Amino acid sequence: MAKLKPVYAFEEADFKNRMLLGGKGAGLSEMTRLKLPVPAGFTITTEVCNKYYENGKKLPKDVMPLVMKNIAKMEKKTCKKWNSTKNPLLVSVRSGAAISMPGMMDTILNLGLNEKTVEGFAKQTSNPRFSWDSYRRFIQLFGKVVFGVDDEKFDHVLNSAKKRQGVTDDSKLNLDSLKKIVSEYKKICNNHTKRKFPNNPNEQLQLAIEAVFKSWMGERAIVYREKNNITKDIANGTAVNIVTMVFGNMGDDSGTGVVFTRNGHNGKKEIEGEYLINAQGEDVVAGVRTGKDISKLKIEMPKSYRELSNACSKLEKHFREPQDIEFTIEMGKFYLLQTRTAKMSAGALVKTSVDMVKEKLINKNRALTRIPAQQLEALLHKTIDQSKIKGFERLAKGIAASPGAASGIAVFNVKRAIAMGENNKKVILIRQETKPEDVPAFFSSEGILTSQGGKSSHAAIVSRGMGKPCIVGCADLKIDYENNRCLANGITVLEGEPITIDGSTGVVYIGDVPTVEPQVTKDFQTILSWAKSTKKLGIRANADTPDAAKLARKFGAEGIGLCRTERMFNATDRIGLFVDMIMATNESQRKQVLKKLGQLQKSDFIQILKAMEGYKVTIRLLDPPLHEFLPNPEELMDRIYKNKKGENLSRTKKVLERAKELAEINPMMGHRGVRVGITYPEIYRTQIAAVFEAAVELSRKKVNAKPQIMIPQVGSIAELNHIKEIYDDVKSKIQKKHGVKINVNFGTMLEVVRACLTSDELVKTAEFFSFGTNDLTQAVFSFSREDAEGKFLPEYMEKELLEISPFQSIDVNGVGNLMKIGIKQGRAIKKDLEIGICGEHGGDPNSIKFCHSSNVSYVSASPHRIPIAIVAAAQAVIEQKGKK
Ligand code: PEP
Ligand code: MG
Repeated sequence: MAKLKPVYAFEEADFKNRMLLGGKGAGLSEMTRLKLPVPAGFTITTEVCNKYYENGKKLPKDVMPLVMKNIAKMEKKTCKKWNSTKNPLLVSVRSGAAISMPGMMDTILNLGLNEKTVEGFAKQTSNPRFSWDSYRRFIQLFGKVVFGVDDEKFDHVLNSAKKRQGVTDDSKLNLDSLKKIVSEYKKICNNHTKRKFPNNPNEQLQLAIEAVFKSWMGERAIVYREKNNITKDIANGTAVNIVTMVFGNMGDDSGTGVVFTRNGHNGKKEIEGEYLINAQGEDVVAGVRTGKDISKLKIEMPKSYRELSNACSKLEKHFREPQDIEFTIEMGKFYLLQTRTAKMSAGALVKTSVDMVKEKLINKNRALTRIPAQQLEALLHKTIDQSKIKGFERLAKGIAASPGAASGIAVFNVKRAIAMGENNKKVILIRQETKPEDVPAFFSSEGILTSQGGKSSHAAIVSRGMGKPCIVGCADLKIDYENNRCLANGITVLEGEPITIDGSTGVVYIGDVPTVEPQVTKDFQTILSWAKSTKKLGIRANADTPDAAKLARKFGAEGIGLCRTERMFNATDRIGLFVDMIMATNESQRKQVLKKLGQLQKSDFIQILKAMEGYKVTIRLLDPPLHEFLPNPEELMDRIYKNKKGENLSRTKKVLERAKELAEINPMMGHRGVRVGITYPEIYRTQIAAVFEAAVELSRKKVNAKPQIMIPQVGSIAELNHIKEIYDDVKSKIQKKHGVKINVNFGTMLEVVRACLTSDELVKTAEFFSFGTNDLTQAVFSFSREDAEGKFLPEYMEKELLEISPFQSIDVNGVGNLMKIGIKQGRAIKKDLEIGICGEHGGDPNSIKFCHSSNVSYVSASPHRIPIAIVAAAQAVIEQKGKK
């Protein structure tokens, strides 16, 4: 586009400038260009929205004249007349930002109706009842959106009218009743605004445009943007689309629907969605009425179904992405009202990626980059353990709307769900339907269950986007908000009682049903294999047990980047022994206990190394301070005070004494890691020996084990060399004992600032480095993680002092720079030095991209995040190539 204009008719624009036209406007323009049946209309740009705010919430002067010029163009195209008493042109005024924010901003329908045009509309449609019904809907929506009138006031009038006329259904209200309702509605608005309800369509239009711009800064839109990290470079303001009204509620030859060009739930190549006969679009989206499956339209309206099906394939071919489409049929004539990229479940994204490559619609790189790596976690969601399901009672069955199983306590109130979620309670939010303002409760719930609505309802779409299990349209469930309970199948569930939902089948169970780990599908494996052949980064796992190692390998891990040996001491059969070791009063006593612990560790290492045969396994020696393994002094004092039966008082007193001795002011910077290894060398000696003994045994069994030993918390070459001497001594003794040569690499973590700064010294002894970005982040910010996350970090983010928690995504400018120094100095001396990262950041897509660009050798992530890491590593390569 040359010079930017404030207003574009649909035929003047295309899909390229979504930032300016918003997704809806750009989609309508592109569909118009593709000669698809789109009602005539135009878009007021997002730039006008920004100017509106810059002007102190006033439309720039040139906008309304341009709007009216475009209305004139619409008159020509539609052969209808603005403000006409014979053949009036009515419009909808719709919001639409560059990124879809479903239901977060406002829309007004049937605009242009007044006392005169309503009669013209009645003539035009030969249906006075319909025309007055549209008028009353217009006043209600306009009153709510433009004037902020409470919906309940209108509902009250509507309900009284129904009562008066003795009907229960809105559609049964007669002309007389509707006229009375219109007059009452106007009174409500007039009382609220202390002015007369605007009759002039020009004024209505201006007020509606301004209201849509205002909704950009409405509370629910702001919260949605915050929660979804929608920054100004992603969407800056909303556009306003003025579209000729088409009516899906003009009788049984009319209807409206929302479909995906492919199944958004499982990715199958089939049109998926719902429609309603004789209804307006909002009825489907709001979930007020549960729609019919779109396949039925084929039978009910075959011609319209054909048109829909043709439009679907044309749009998919054009956009090379499954689309989410809104359509309306007005007295047999088919119209498209919206198209946008379909938001699909992770499983559907994977399947459609593989299918579209097969169909030659996209290439492999596109297939990989269109999947938000983070979303893949949903595929690794738990499912119901079918072998244990027996005995659990089924409460009800609804529509499976977002996959995965979740258990939690039933909560029927949005505020309580938020509060309980924040208190670490697992919550299943149960509502009749959900609204945009309920979204904060989605974040704090494990899953969502609604009794109304279909697959395109608000609850379904939002849950799917968040990767949370969701069931909708569970019609058997009778929810009793007053008494905080629900009833189905003759069973009452009270708030606080456990239930389980299976978002893949739609079944709701009573109780906490056991779940099983997910299976990686064939399509997922295909995506992972494409990602593996594209990526450059190695992907290893943080795994401390044989089971975790096996799982990580199944998910595609190429080794273990961090095996935290202290986790093994925490197991119930070992913690007692470990406490004995801490309580030992002299070295020989300590050595005795360590002998037993060494045996246990050796057998753990054997199993882990076997599970990762052929791949490197980095075993980190003891890291936490010893007092972490003892009960805290307050608890011990309490036990002494209570002196319950079975309490060994003299032992408890001794443990208390030791716990007090070991207590630290600041354990994060205290007696931990290599410092423990230096003061209690027998601990590290035992662990090193256990690794070598395991390696010897496996080599005898011809198992290709590749252990490496890593020292935590090192800050100087002197510390590292001190431990290296112990390592060398143990190594030579074990080699001599067994008469074999064993290679176990010796390396260090870089998690102390000084280690990064002196990596050129450490590299002389270390055979590999691994960044401990958890501790490094704490050290670089001088934030203790527990205190920061619990106390002030949320406020830092709220006040935009930090965009994202540095514990979640690497702080590139601080921690990242330090890493770069560590890498540069290390590799200057050993060109091929292996350098990994094993902090939590190893599973975060943005951090992975940073690691790729900084030439890190591998990232190490928890088993469930391995597939995310593999795909993110491939995306990093593709993105980097794209930038070059
Ligand atoms: C780290 O500090 O990044 C690390 C992996 O060690 P831990 O989380 O065990 O302190
Ligand atoms: Mg650490």
